[in-house]
Amino acid sequence: MKLFDVYPINPINIVKGQGSLVYDAHGTEYLDMYGGHAVISIGHTHPHYVKRLEDQLHQLGFYSNSIEIPIQKELATLLGKVSGKDDYQLFMCNSGAEANENALKLASFYNGKKKVIAFRKSFHGRTSLAVAVTDNPKIVAPINETDNVIFLPWADEAALAQAFADNEISSVIIEGIQGVGGIQVAPESFLQKIRSLCDEHNAVFIADSVQCGYGRTGKFFSQDFAGVNADIYTMAKGMGNGFPVGGIIISPKIQPAYGMLGTTFGGNHLACAAGLAVLEIMEQDNLMLNAATIGEYLIKELKKLEQVKEVRGRGLMIGIELPEELAHVRKELLFKHHIFTGEAKPNVVRLLPALNLTKAHADRFLEAFVNVLNQ
Ligand code: PMP
Repeated sequence: MKLFDVYPINPINIVKGQGSLVYDAHGTEYLDMYGGHAVISIGHTHPHYVKRLEDQLHQLGFYSNSIEIPIQKELATLLGKVSGKDDYQLFMCNSGAEANENALKLASFYNGKKKVIAFRKSFHGRTSLAVAVTDNPKIVAPINETDNVIFLPWADEAALAQAFADNEISSVIIEGIQGVGGIQVAPESFLQKIRSLCDEHNAVFIADSVQCGYGRTGKFFSQDFAGVNADIYTMAKGMGNGFPVGGIIISPKIQPAYGMLGTTFGGNHLACAAGLAVLEIMEQDNLMLNAATIGEYLIKELKKLEQVKEVRGRGLMIGIELPEELAHVRKELLFKHHIFTGEAKPNVVRLLPALNLTKAHADRFLEAFVNVLNQ
């Protein structure tokens, strides 16, 4: 059977990793400034993470969700502590799309309404509802088109107020920082406006934190900068550091009834072990502070570069916009300097490294980046 290539494939076979470094089958070392697409939060093969998963696998890999799973409660308690959202309820699933799917559905159960506000260039995943609120014509099939979604321009307060005035809005779904859309930071006043309109109209504020959440920006959720609480936060990627773990946390205003949420694999013993290890390491090693400090340093240094059009982002979620003619920069970083980065538009380099990226690794990236730009 032939394998379907989901993404354009680089001819590199990564077989090993440690911290922010990965190695191919020939032993060549690469610096991972992409964190395997924002997934690697605490670094590759962290000893505590490996041990927790290994111990759990020896103990019990899986058992049905219909029994008590104390490790789920342990995870919810620690997540409440680290995120500061102790009064929320956690529902665990397996991916970002599934988290968004459940959040949108739950909002509609809660207020009995159907219309959703989403934003231009958004990315929320590839399952039915998630893809319907995604603004990317390549991935929205005709069957997923829906009259219930209103796409608004990014950060346009007047358009937002008008959409609320004209429709019965069930929920607003927004990435605090658009990832795939090119690293666009939502202005704090815009998030505050969403909060007040949702309150006024009994609508649900859904913060898609799959890419920009979980400490990546230096705060647990990017809405925290605006002093705004969402009603539902959706999470995945960094939550499991590579083990598929997703989830939503739900504010006390919404109390799901039995049957509204469910999944076979979500919150299984191994997923919880991975999730707990991530949070323990984040807390022990103060990784949010590191993400803030190293991120601020990188952004400051990148802003000094003449050839760079714009630097956007927060903490270790950084977009470097280059003039169109420098779209080849990522390839040279990879093949000449052995550094993985991500892409947003062809001319936006996306950095989403592990939250424990060191200053030395940040400097290694900066040096290579300057070298490529100067050629
Ligand atoms: N939301 C955002 C903001 C994302 O970046 C992604 C993945 N790129 C998703 C949702 C979907 O996550 P998953 O691929 O785990 O379904």
